[in-house]
Parts: sequence; structure tokens; C-alpha cells
Amino acid sequence: MAAETVKSVKDDLAASFRIAAMHGFNEGVDNHFSAVHPAREDWFFLNRYGPHWSEITADDIITVAFDGQVVEGEGEWDVTAFMIHRGCHRAHPGARVVFHTHQPYATALSITRGGLDTRLSQNATHFHNRVGRLPYGGLASGEEEGNRIGGAISEGQIAVILDNHGVMVIGRDVPEAWFRLYFFERAAQVQVLAQSTGDELIRMPEHVAAQAQVFFDSETHAPAALFAAERRREARLRG
Ligand SMILES: [Zn+2]
Repeated sequence: MAAETVKSVKDDLAASFRIAAMHGFNEGVDNHFSAVHPAREDWFFLNRYGPHWSEITADDIITVAFDGQVVEGEGEWDVTAFMIHRGCHRAHPGARVVFHTHQPYATALSITRGGLDTRLSQNATHFHNRVGRLPYGGLASGEEEGNRIGGAISEGQIAVILDNHGVMVIGRDVPEAWFRLYFFERAAQVQVLAQSTGDELIRMPEHVAAQAQVFFDSETHAPAALFAAERRREARLRG
């Protein structure tokens, strides 16, 4: 992992919004991604409220302190964004990057009893035994609900399904968080499509899913490769 600078993290974070928009993961101008400041554990980068994800640049990324003060950049934070991301960064110092979306297939599974079945598709095995769930508690407009959502990811987990709401993933850097968000949605999409056939689904054995999960994690070069490719594609499409 290359040494992170303020500029590199903000550039990657801004690009991740445009890439997510390219995939249709955005919810209007809502939802939010954040990353911890490389030099301050109590500061994090967050998208300012207002721009469409497809137009976000590093100038739209504000630096926010845990007390809510915007310490760098122009713009305001959305209250639910601040509450959720502060809650998560405070609860999980290892979660350097936190993505929250209402991406459609993951959100569809958030309203099903079974959620993501990590023994149905190869993509889903990446999340085997690593996805939490949290009952819906209303909009995170206050510190208590923000802390409840932010603290919902247990040790060893990389994603949490927010029931009746959406999904949150964490990563050690932006490429890793993007890799997880992308494969979560692809796994959810395939599951929803398969379930829509009404046919009986084939579940792989537990030990096979566990092996596949270990393999996914050993592919340490994959997140950076995917993110670089996504950045090139997004730049081409933007012209
Ligand atoms: Zn949300």
C-alpha cells in the first residue's frame, strides 16, 4: 500500500463517488463515504452535502473533526452522514474507510429475512461469516442512533446490512472499501435474480464457502487493480 497523503486519500475518495455513480449505487445526492485523515485519528474526510456523486471532486470533500467542526474545505455535512461516520470511525479505528449506500440490490436484501446468503454465489463467499445485521431504528439524526449504526460492525466483519435501509462496508483504504461495495452489490444482484426465478437454489457446502473466503482475502492485489481499472473507465466516460 503506497503511503497515503491528504491529497491521495481525497482524490481516491472523490473518484469512488464518481465510480459508484457510474454503477448506479447513489441515492440522489444522499449517502456518504468517509476516510480517516492520514495524520489525525479524530478527523475524517466526508462528502459535502449537495453535489451529485457523478460530479464530486476533491474540492467537494470536507475534513470534519469528531466534534462536528469542518476544519478544512467548503461546505456542510449532512447530519445523518456525520452521525453515522463519526460513530463508525470512533468505534472502529481500524475502519479507515466507511461507505454507506442504498444501492438497490443490497437494499432489497436488507428487507428480506435471510439477507445475503454467502453460500449461494462465488462473489458472495467473499462475505462469508463477515456480514452483520442491524434492525432499523429510524434516521440517524442524533448521536445515539449514529453510534448504534457506527458500532454495528463486529470484530472480523467487513459489512453490515442495515435492515430496511441499506448497507455499510468498511476497508483499510478506498480501493478495498470499493472492492467490497462492488462485490456486495454483485452478490446481492445475483441472489435477487436467482430468487426471482422461484426455483430451488443450490447452496454450496459450508467448508467450500469458507475456503473461497480465505482465497478472496489472499488476493491482496485485487482491490487496487479493480479500483485503478474503474478510475480509468470513469475518466474515459467523462471524456
Ligand atoms: Zn442511509
